[in-house]
Amino acid sequence: MRKIPGEFLAIDRKARARSFSTDVQTRPVAERICDFNDVVIYLTPELAMQEAARCVQCPDPAPCMLACPAHNDIPSAMWLIEQGRFLEAAAIYRQTSSLPEICGRVCPHEQLCQGSCSHNKATAPVMTGPLEAFVTDYERQLLGVSIPVGQPSGKHVAIIGAGPAGLACAEQLVQQGHQVTIFEAKPGPGGMITYGIPNFKLPKEVVFERIHDLEKAGVKIVYNTYVGPEMTIDDLLEGDFDAVFVGVGAQIDAPMEVPGEDLPGVYKATEFLMRGNVDLELLPPELRSLPEVGRKVVVIGGGDTASDCLRTALRMGAEEVVCLYRRTEKEMPGGRHDRDLAKEEGAQYQFLTQPIRFIAGPDGRLAQVECIRMVLGEPDAKGRRRPVPVENSNFIVEADCAVTAVSYWPDPTIGKTTPDLKTDKWGLIYADTETGATSRPGVYAGGDDVTGPSLVVTAMVAGRKAAAAIDQYLASIE
Ligand SMILES: Cc1cc2nc3c(=O)[nH]c(=O)nc-3n(C[C@H](O)[C@H](O)[C@H](O)COP(=O)(O)OP(=O)(O)OC[C@H]3O[C@@H](n4cnc5c(N)ncnc54)[C@H](O)[C@@H]3O)c2cc1C
Repeated sequence: MRKIPGEFLAIDRKARARSFSTDVQTRPVAERICDFNDVVIYLTPELAMQEAARCVQCPDPAPCMLACPAHNDIPSAMWLIEQGRFLEAAAIYRQTSSLPEICGRVCPHEQLCQGSCSHNKATAPVMTGPLEAFVTDYERQLLGVSIPVGQPSGKHVAIIGAGPAGLACAEQLVQQGHQVTIFEAKPGPGGMITYGIPNFKLPKEVVFERIHDLEKAGVKIVYNTYVGPEMTIDDLLEGDFDAVFVGVGAQIDAPMEVPGEDLPGVYKATEFLMRGNVDLELLPPELRSLPEVGRKVVVIGGGDTASDCLRTALRMGAEEVVCLYRRTEKEMPGGRHDRDLAKEEGAQYQFLTQPIRFIAGPDGRLAQVECIRMVLGEPDAKGRRRPVPVENSNFIVEADCAVTAVSYWPDPTIGKTTPDLKTDKWGLIYADTETGATSRPGVYAGGDDVTGPSLVVTAMVAGRKAAAAIDQYLASIE
């Protein structure tokens, strides 16, 4: 529900519609590619107020609110920010989002709230994403953040996976007074927001501060615990737990299924990003060393993960970093903002190019990638034109290192080890989109393990919706 009915505010909408954005400021390229620190220069209070004052307060339903998967009350937040009422604005975001300091940084705003801003018709959209991050950072620095804990219900919920879906579910459940234990396979929390998204887009301390809020509220996280083979969901339900939420993501890198994929020097995106971006103590022992990038790196894929790999390779000292993509730039699924930053930092793009073989040099390591030219054919089911190989167009690209960032699959383990939990042929869990209810009573699921690879915000919303349904379920089994 919108808090401040914008249509009644006495503002000069025409002047606001003509106003120019302060735009996101980034550190100079030469400086930022030498480290893994955040590339964005944060807004000052003055700039934040100036930018928020560009909002024309569209009448309900405001397009930005509709476009936000969490339905954040962005117009009300903008109204409060322009008056310098930052803490009240932060409280608005926290009503509908469990991770606003993270979504404010990593949401593809140009496809969501900013993409729907009515300013797009005439000038640049209001920078709603950076403003969300600004006010929630401001709140944290000034007051700290605490999650209000409900009266103890005597009920205990197990959450599998400490990614955005699991964390959001936990944040909502403790507010209802339920005891929450998260079982996490990795040595650290956050899922892909820690182990996938690089530090230069999302500093790890932002994630860890939010984890600390949850721990202060009583959420227990048990690390290095892979639920499935040894401890099953049935074991949890037969033991201390009254309900289970499954938020295990879709974390398995899809193979390219081309010869030479297992050569030294060919990496899967997640391994490459983890070894390049994550502190050693948060990594499984076998991954505690930097990938060897050499002089030239090729990254295969067209999504955000490919942009992250390109930018990570540049920061690791590669001199030449090239993205190989089988369609054209127009069909690339990744966000334009990240791609623009990658280009600015020196990444090159070779379109209509499909690798078909990785070739070893005399030392047994990757030396070349055999590729084939593509042309665009008829549209596929999603309307994207299909890439079609051009006969006899094979050519060689020299490379010391290749990173495959083609797609992610779910891990089928939970489905295989949980009787009567319905999954599809890929291992995605069937769950109700509004409640997260699965085919097993008392077992709920949400996030990438239900939708396939998606976004932080959609996983977070799924975790919150499931928490509401779990709360009702727990009341029903009293
Ligand atoms: C490189 C990369 C960059 C991305 N960039 C962006 C971006 O800029 N913006 C954006 O919105 N989204 C981005 N995403 C997508 C986003 O990170 C995911 O959609 C989101 O993290 C999904 O949340 P989740 O909780 O469903 O799963 P995950 O984040 O995948 O978390 C699942 C957790 O479950 C754990 N787990 C798995 N199996 C088990 C098990 N059996 N037992 C116990 N624990 C288990 C995993 O270790 C993990 O911690 C990116 C993804 C990647 C890979």
